[in-house]
Amino acid sequence: MSEAHLQENIQRIRERIADAARRSGRRPEAIRLVAVTKTVPVERIKQAIALGITEIGENRVQEARDKFDAIGRQVTWHMVGHLQRNKARYAVRIFDMIQSIDTLALAREVDRRAQKEDRVMPVLIEVNTSREATKFGCAPEEALKLARQVDELPHLQLQGFMTVAVFSEDMNRVRDCFKRLRDIYESARQMDWQRARIEILSMGMTHDFEVAIEEGATMVRIGTAIFGPRPG
Ligand SMILES: *Cc1c(COP(=O)(O)O)cnc(C)c1O
Repeated sequence: MSEAHLQENIQRIRERIADAARRSGRRPEAIRLVAVTKTVPVERIKQAIALGITEIGENRVQEARDKFDAIGRQVTWHMVGHLQRNKARYAVRIFDMIQSIDTLALAREVDRRAQKEDRVMPVLIEVNTSREATKFGCAPEEALKLARQVDELPHLQLQGFMTVAVFSEDMNRVRDCFKRLRDIYESARQMDWQRARIEILSMGMTHDFEVAIEEGATMVRIGTAIFGPRPG
């Protein structure tokens, strides 16, 4: 892919985000774009940054560490993949936000590691809105309870919720996943919190981000439509 093609992809995604935002009565700036850079080489990521990308998402700690050494803090780093507890230490050093908190055990480990690094880690709770056995995330009915427990941990700041919807041609099923997360988010926004500031609804990927925005997403995570298909 040429740099011109990359520029065109980013431009086109921004237009589609803006159109979907307007359709749902919101300002385009209300939706944050996280460019998902898993498997994308550092040189290409740097081109995307030069073209205005400010937030990137990775799903593996080791891959993120290698890239972080070359890219550093000129962008905001989001952990969007499943986090193993034994990787929490490196995760809190690299990432600006961990979007995949789905158990109390993981939350406690990230809290402990964040304390050691003397920082407060912004986190999202990942919810398995499709209930597929192959997907990570807590069950929808557990999400608010887990949110309460996360709010007790002094080195975490809960900022919202994340989901990966069912992968389906049936957009009604996809939309139901987003509605489910939106309901949890709206309930959480009605609650009182010690530390949490519930502002982020992270949902929508290449094939479903417009539906996610229509259902209230404030953050979309897009890889393929920006960087092209991943190998393998
Ligand atoms: C890979 C990935 C994305 C981006 O997916 P695309 O379909 O390539 O846009 C978004 N979110 C998560 C959690 C991912 O793992």
